[in-house]
Parts: sequence; structure tokens; C-alpha cells
Amino acid sequence: SLTLATFDPELAAAVLREERRQEDHAELIASENYASPLVMAIQNTVFTNKYAEGYPGKRYYSGCEYVDVAERLAIERAKALFDCDYANVQPHAGAQANAAVFLALTHPGDTVMGMNLAQGGHLTHGNPSNFSGRHYKIVPYGLDPETGLIDYDEMERIALDTRPRMLIGGFSAYSRYKDWARMRSIADKAGAIFWVDMAHVAGLVAASEYPNPLPHAHVVTSTTHKTLRGPRGGIILAKGQDDGFYRKLDTAVFPGIQGGPLMHVIAAKAVAFKEALSPAFKSYQRQVVVNARAMAAVLQRRGYRIVSGGTDNHLMLIDLSNKPYTGKEADAALSAAYITANKNSVPNDPRSPFVTSGLRIGTPAVTTRGFGAAECEDLAGWLCDVLDALEAGSSEQVAGRIREQVVALCRRHPVYR
Ligand code: PLP
Repeated sequence: SLTLATFDPELAAAVLREERRQEDHAELIASENYASPLVMAIQNTVFTNKYAEGYPGKRYYSGCEYVDVAERLAIERAKALFDCDYANVQPHAGAQANAAVFLALTHPGDTVMGMNLAQGGHLTHGNPSNFSGRHYKIVPYGLDPETGLIDYDEMERIALDTRPRMLIGGFSAYSRYKDWARMRSIADKAGAIFWVDMAHVAGLVAASEYPNPLPHAHVVTSTTHKTLRGPRGGIILAKGQDDGFYRKLDTAVFPGIQGGPLMHVIAAKAVAFKEALSPAFKSYQRQVVVNARAMAAVLQRRGYRIVSGGTDNHLMLIDLSNKPYTGKEADAALSAAYITANKNSVPNDPRSPFVTSGLRIGTPAVTTRGFGAAECEDLAGWLCDVLDALEAGSSEQVAGRIREQVVALCRRHPVYR
């Protein structure tokens, strides 16, 4: 029978090399994780063949009785996981979930307030190159330059001044709790809808390791593949709103911005949510936070600055603005040592987003492969060794030595046995 290796050797080789890369590198990109074999397996089923425009029980095609089972399970489990009464599991990704919220709840030209991308926000929260920045009048809020914490008083002042139609909570690079109740009260005072994009922390929220925004927000979106550890995808959730509000959200996803849903991915979301409802998932998320705090402590002991002075979640931002090298150079030096992080702007970064003066690191992936606090402390120490060497001009020799240690540690904790 035909295999990928015989039919398409070039592609098969790329898959094998990617498998090796994922096994042998310490993955510290805060938005990445390793999906379980079950989550991967169900995406490789006949569900991929089915057109199912519409929603369970109300499809535009016949033959949907079995994919309906998958979508209903995904919806019910999402509601149980996040303690809410509405879930749309069809968005193809986080950006699509966010586009649907804009379409459902705003009009082009409206004023929308989101976290400054340079200070931790996401592209879909109003970046000029994104649809959100092109079609809406965006007013950013950000951090207190002294503390690196969100400045809620300033947020309130801007909101009362500009009266946005929608206030966006949520972030891609903020290491502290967000005060959802305070943000809701600011939104109420300004007459704004409060939307939280919890993509980064959804897994922590599911495990009660991070404040759940659902009791406070009108609507919540998320990706399913970051801390939540499911397939690549998006979801929209809400609680305590009326049916008309939920209908608007459903209609915005389909037919608003999408056609046929990816039923194999929706089935995989159902599997991931079932995994996330287990006690093992709760201890996993607790360890993610313990590991992040352990790494932050080592970095600080070694003289590296963490924005806001530490972390309450799965990630942290290392501020390199007092160093003689850039975020981009730090990223490259770590890559050579098989430590994968990403360059990231820090508050008031004088450098462009392609160069930056910071690094973002996170612990969801290494925790999935079984690293505990001791392994994470070793890893943080090696990271500092590489950066110290970068400063001293000897990073190439040091990277070679660290790489061997990283590979040895990774091989003691295989991702997929
Ligand atoms: N929202 C936030 C807060 C994110 O960090 C991201 C991705 O990094 C997204 C949305 C977009 O998700 P996706 O890449 O699935 O479109």
C-alpha cells in the first residue's frame, strides 16, 4: 500500500525531521504545546470529509447525524469546563473567533479599546495591519512604565474620554492576573461591551489556576491549542446573556465569516475538553505555573529583568534593554543551543518588532513533556549561560555545550513515546 514515504518522500522527510526537532529542542514558546496522541488521532478520521454548514440539528447538508454528535459533545464539554451557558466551537482559529466577535457586536468605524500590541496585546486587538486596526478606530491601553503592570486608572480615564463600543481584555504577553471585575466596571461606566480574549491562559482558567473571565465578560474567545493543549482552533463562550446575543455570535461565525466547519478539528476539541476536565489536567496546569515561577526566580538571581517583576501564569517577558544585544540576537543564540523562545517587544521598546529588546518564554510545552521545577531551573540556568556568553562574545562555544545538555534532558522526557 502507498505510504507517505513512498508517495511523497520529500514531505515524509520533513515530517520526520520536525518530529526529531520537537523531541530534541526545549520548547519555550509560550503559545505552543504538544497535543495528545488522541487529539491528533481523531483529526486523522473520516470526519475531515464531511460538509456540515450550520449548527447541530440545523444543517444545510444531510448526513450530519454523526458529526452532530461530535459538535454537541464539544459544546457541552466547553460549557462544563468554563462554567458558561454558550459555546461556539466552530472558529477555525483564534483570529477567526475574534473576527466573529467584531462582526457580531460592532460596526466598522466604531471605537474599540484594546491592549497595545507593543505592550502585550494581540494583532487582532487593533494592529493597523490587521482587519481590526483597518476597520475600527482603535484606542490602546497599556502598562504603567514604572511597574510593568496594567494601569487601570489610565484605562478608565481613556475609556471615559473616548467611549469605546467595545473594551478588549486579554493578551499575548502579560505575566500577571488581569482584574476582570475592574475591567467590567470600566466597560460599564463607558457604556462598552466587555470582550475577553483568554487564548493564552484558557488552560489555566479551565483548571482554576487563573481568574475565569466568564462571570465578568459579555463574551470570551480563545484558541484551543495553547495552554488548553487541544487541536489548533478557536472557540467563543458566553454566560448569562440572552438568546438574541448568542444568535448574533453564531450567525457571525457562520455564515458571517466561515463556510463549512472543520468537523475533524471540532471532534478533536471535544477530546481535548474531556482531557481538560480530568484531575490530571488540573495538576498539569498547576505545574505550568510552578515551573514558570521557578524559571523567573533563576533568571532574576542571575541578574535578568522580568517585566512586572515576576509571573502569575505560564509566561514571562525578559527585558534585555540594558544588554548590549537585541531580542533577535538573543533568540538566535538560544536557537543554536536548541532552546526555542521568541523575541518580543518590551514596554517602551525603542527597537522595531522585528528586532526588539526582549524575549518571551513560557512553560506549557516543557511541562507537558514532564519537566518539573528542577528541570526548569536547569533550563533557565542554561538560558542565562547562553545569554551571558552572548554578552561576552563566546556564545558559539557555549551554545554547543548547552545544546548537548538540552538534548540529553529532552531525551529523558520524550514527548511522544
Ligand atoms: N488571541 C491571542 C491573545 C493570541 O495570543 C493569539 C495567537 O497567538 C490569537 C488570538 C490568534 O490565534 P490563532 O493563531 O489561532 O489565529
